[in-house]
Amino acid sequence: MQSQNENRTSNEEETKTPTAVNWHCYKACNYACEFCYARFEDLKATPVMAANEGCQLLEMLASAGVEKINFVGGEPMLHPHIET
Ligand code: SF4
Repeated sequence: MQSQNENRTSNEEETKTPTAVNWHCYKACNYACEFCYARFEDLKATPVMAANEGCQLLEMLASAGVEKINFVGGEPMLHPHIET
């Protein structure tokens, strides 16, 4: 019979890596929806992540077992490193 601690450890290990990640990769947006939850007032000085850093991040997430990445913002299609 397993103790509660053994069960908790097992469950925590199973949930360490999320299957999906929402990456708020760009804070700017060309809309101003009233219902918007993407408020980034406290991030005004945050620089855009360099392209090679973004690629490294994606590789790290994939290596960790993340299966799905949602690019969100703001408007991710305005990101200077994403070609439209
Ligand atoms: S981030 Fe989405 S919800 Fe917010 S203003 Fe832009 S389009 Fe609208």
